[in-house]
Amino acid sequence: MNKDEGKRLLLTRSKAFRDRYFKAYGRMALRVGKDSYLMTRNTLPLSGIRESDVHLYDINTGEIGLLFRSRNDVNAVVLACTEASVLFSSEAQMMRPALDDLAQIIGPDVRISPTEDSPDVLRALKDRNGCFLRKRGILGIGRDLDEAVAAALILEKSAEAEILAPKVGGLKYLSPAKAKEMRQFYLNKYTKVNTQDHVPFVNIGSQEFKIRNAIIDCGKEMCHKDLVQGSWGNISVRLNRNEMLITPSGMDYFDIKTEDIVKVNIGTLEYIVQGRRPSSEVLLHADIYKSHPGCNAIIHTHSNGCSVFAAARAGFRIDNPLIHEIIGDMNVTEPEMPGTPELSREVSKALVENSACIIANHGAIFCGPELDIVLNVADAIEAKACNLLGLSSSTRLMAEKDEEEELQ
Ligand code: 13P
Ligand code: ZN
Repeated sequence: MNKDEGKRLLLTRSKAFRDRYFKAYGRMALRVGKDSYLMTRNTLPLSGIRESDVHLYDINTGEIGLLFRSRNDVNAVVLACTEASVLFSSEAQMMRPALDDLAQIIGPDVRISPTEDSPDVLRALKDRNGCFLRKRGILGIGRDLDEAVAAALILEKSAEAEILAPKVGGLKYLSPAKAKEMRQFYLNKYTKVNTQDHVPFVNIGSQEFKIRNAIIDCGKEMCHKDLVQGSWGNISVRLNRNEMLITPSGMDYFDIKTEDIVKVNIGTLEYIVQGRRPSSEVLLHADIYKSHPGCNAIIHTHSNGCSVFAAARAGFRIDNPLIHEIIGDMNVTEPEMPGTPELSREVSKALVENSACIIANHGAIFCGPELDIVLNVADAIEAKACNLLGLSSSTRLMAEKDEEEELQ
């Protein structure tokens, strides 16, 4: 990657830190070439980085240079000072995962570096994609910038869950064995699929073309609404009685193109092998279409508010009659490993009388007659979850912004 490409990437990916639930101050760094790295100026609001804030450094300089020199597998770093992470890291000795994405992307536990000195930080990062810096915040690292950004966002989400979950019954942690298994799945399977740059474009009709593009737009919208971090979550739409279209596994939502969406047989789970591999939750989506004939679209989210409930294995009642009519109550499933028939069975049980549920230690899932309705419901339910927890949600912040703009 050259310097200009690196700069562009830093500016686009910094958008993930919009002031939504929190404001993140910090810096981002990206290895470019063998001997240098790009890094943003110190302690900026991460969401507001401009081109003039990004500078080129020699790999032999600075603590971040040392990190790049010590870890060949690391090409990107995100340092983020956020309220929840500072609060959590001030007292805690370590973090145990209560959410599957944390166990997958970071590791079976999260360490807290007592200082910002390189030996302490490198020790805390050993075999991990991130750590906390005591009283300073978050350090997310990755093979690429997407992975480092997702690691930082998921660390922040988990720090919030630590602080807010006592309001809804307290965190229910994953067992160490389950957390380890999830990490192994991430390293050995999740990150190994769909790594080729392009797949062949298949000849498709205009209706299917439209649906594929609607799924792509929905993915970007889901990111804008902060319903997912990184490549987590997934979307599908029923194409006909026997087939569905679903997002590919592990791809960044902003990189997905028309040909990357996967057409899967609902009964047999078959798909064209020359294309992308479907979402790892393909069975879960297929099973919902099989048991819910009126369901034509499904969205699985990992949003902050619903994740606090997931981490506490708690559901909540929906008292808005209009929304209740559409989805019922948000019950919670029993915890099961992602992508397994057991998880699908648990979700099916929770969806017998409802069209959405909290997935224990994982996230949430929503289904309905049309994709845009399902997205709006997922957004409204996230706002509700945040409201119950006293956490400001994107919807609320956006509504406040709109009101401010109207007043001006
Ligand atoms: P995929 O990227 O395979 O869809 O997996 C994301 C996820 O949320 C699994 O539960
Ligand atoms: Zn998931």
